[in-house]
Amino acid sequence: MTHQPKLNALAAADPAIAGLVEGEAQRQHDKIRLIASENYVSQAVLEATGTVLTNKYSEGYAGKRYYEGQQFIDQVEQLAIDRAKAVFGADHANVQPYSGSPANLAAYLAFAQPGDNVLGMALPDGGHLTHGWGVSATGKWFTPVRYGVAKETGRVDLDQVRDLARQHRPKLIFAGGTAIPRTIDFPAFAEIAAEVDAVLVADIAHIAGLVAGGAHPSPVGHAQVITTTTHKTLRGPRGAMILSDAEHAKAVDKAVFPGLQGGPHNHTTAAIAVALHEAQQPSFSEYAHRIVANARALADALLACGYDLVSGGTDNHLLLIDLTNKGVAGKPAAQALDRAGIELNYNTVPFDPRKPFDPSGIRLGTSAITTRGLRPEHQVEVAAWIDRTITAAAADDEAVLDTIAAEIREFLEPFPIPGYSA
Ligand SMILES: *Cc1c(COP(=O)(O)O)cnc(C)c1O
Repeated sequence: MTHQPKLNALAAADPAIAGLVEGEAQRQHDKIRLIASENYVSQAVLEATGTVLTNKYSEGYAGKRYYEGQQFIDQVEQLAIDRAKAVFGADHANVQPYSGSPANLAAYLAFAQPGDNVLGMALPDGGHLTHGWGVSATGKWFTPVRYGVAKETGRVDLDQVRDLARQHRPKLIFAGGTAIPRTIDFPAFAEIAAEVDAVLVADIAHIAGLVAGGAHPSPVGHAQVITTTTHKTLRGPRGAMILSDAEHAKAVDKAVFPGLQGGPHNHTTAAIAVALHEAQQPSFSEYAHRIVANARALADALLACGYDLVSGGTDNHLLLIDLTNKGVAGKPAAQALDRAGIELNYNTVPFDPRKPFDPSGIRLGTSAITTRGLRPEHQVEVAAWIDRTITAAAADDEAVLDTIAAEIREFLEPFPIPGYSA
């Protein structure tokens, strides 16, 4: 058995699931994990997630619950709230949203009516489904207006944001996304939102850890409402939070409960509190800055191999690569890379002529490999493996992929991960 903590009871009770968890631990150990939204949580966060707090119902908020027996749960949730407020410098924090998508839905419920105009980034340009994309409830129940990136720069087109805001007077403006490799200009968004009297929602799901560590400017003081997942760069359990200024606090809380959700997931809340405690340590700021240094080093190494990076590089943890000039599409490239021991996802690139399920690009992120201890000097080697694999994929040469996977397993041996021991 390799999983930590040991899965003794689980292996005895349900060997099928235990075996699959063991397999996943091994897989997470053996691969260079470059999925931009993933990470490795600490042993402490893992332990908090697996506690008896999962047994408790606590609908409501600390001091105002609908069930008895909240002597410990209230304190857990209050600690998570206090730490969230301290880490981000926000007036208010709600730590109950089940995940990033419900957190965003709570923002709609709190500050918009069905049918209202809402302005968000288009999915193919880097936005999230919940920013009003058509297949999402947010795109069906509200009237989405979408901005994108400028063709010449690959960066958010703020002139377009301003024009669309003036034209459509949205109730909500979302700033942020899932595939934005550059710094988000929150003050510029705030100015536009103020001009049209919209609520600015900064969705920092991807960059929350960078904001917490001072490696990306904070939206606090610019966006009235800030939504975030807790499991991406912030390195906590799967979950989410909503931060807000004092004026919008009540509406946020009412929208989460009773508006959208029932009982909060208290084991997750505890693990969020642990992750936020970790984010308060000086070492977390080092971590956040190293994520960015690793992404820049990986970008430089890939540019040197002739790769076409959207926007020409990165300011954060994320790289978006258009593979058109390499003669291979995103999906076969991602599949070949996975087999070669490098895990990432295929992704649309701005103005992509291909379909979302078979797009031109791949997306990479450095938060997980940074947790693991990889440093900027390792990125030339990582880029060389990526380049060899993509060259092989373009040439339909499968034999080399297993060789690369073996090289990567050996390379990763000195970099342990929490949750696994050989
Ligand atoms: C990941 C993400 C979400 C959704 O988070 P889930 O936990 O997957 O629901 C929302 N917004 C942005 C910008 C994201 O990157």
